[in-house]
Amino acid sequence: MTNMLVAADAFLNGLPVPRYTFLFFFEDVNAGAWEHSYSSEYIIKEQDWTEEFGKRMTDIAAHEFFHIVTPLNIHSEIIEKFNFVTPTPSEHLWLYEGTTEWASHKMQICYSIKTLDDYFKDLRRKVITDERFFDKTYSLSKISLTSYTPEGHKQYSNIYNRGALVAGLLDIRLLELSQGKRGYREVINELAKEYGPNKSFPEKEWFDIFVKRTYPEIADFFNRYVKNAEPLPLKEYYEKIGILFDEQTKTFSINPQATLEQIRLRERWMRNN
Ligand SMILES: [Zn+2]
Repeated sequence: MTNMLVAADAFLNGLPVPRYTFLFFFEDVNAGAWEHSYSSEYIIKEQDWTEEFGKRMTDIAAHEFFHIVTPLNIHSEIIEKFNFVTPTPSEHLWLYEGTTEWASHKMQICYSIKTLDDYFKDLRRKVITDERFFDKTYSLSKISLTSYTPEGHKQYSNIYNRGALVAGLLDIRLLELSQGKRGYREVINELAKEYGPNKSFPEKEWFDIFVKRTYPEIADFFNRYVKNAEPLPLKEYYEKIGILFDEQTKTFSINPQATLEQIRLRERWMRNN
């Protein structure tokens, strides 16, 4: 947990809250984890310590902790004045849950808490889960907007799979367009500073605001992979950073024949400063 928080501190250029509490209950059953603004709680089935169990706890805690960025510091007006009695969905679950899930794993490889091989396994699991268990025609926007309906509820948890994969692709695209200078991490940090806990963004304008702050090409990215459900260009995108994706076995690996340019972009992708 300490290593994870040190990594989060570096990844975010300083922790955005002065105090944060993790509440763990080890019980007879698993009941999940919840994030709040300045704390998160975990009800986890008690078991003997194993390294695998420890890693899983760190993954879950990293995810919940990262919610201090999305949505606490970057959220739509709908979230700010959320109606808990009659919930109104925000379209930007790709940002709140997808980005959070991506960042919680990505920051762990940048600071060597997770090996690249373990990260590749996480990615593979997400690709397989997305393909086998969810409706391929269901876009991330549609998951968001229908999440309170019985139909949407069935697709909801794919936000942790496809939502995180799309955030990873957005990171690579942003790094490519900025020649390695400004990936998704940098953009998120800028936005968190500009918005913060007390300033929401206009729900309908968010895609345009994001595109204006980044590159016109990102509008096309949002159209294809957030608003619509086009097949994810995993092979094409990971190739840009010298990582191979095998479409048959769904495995990721380092390309030993990567070009200098691809290696350079991968170093930027994994940078820890
Ligand atoms: Zn979450």
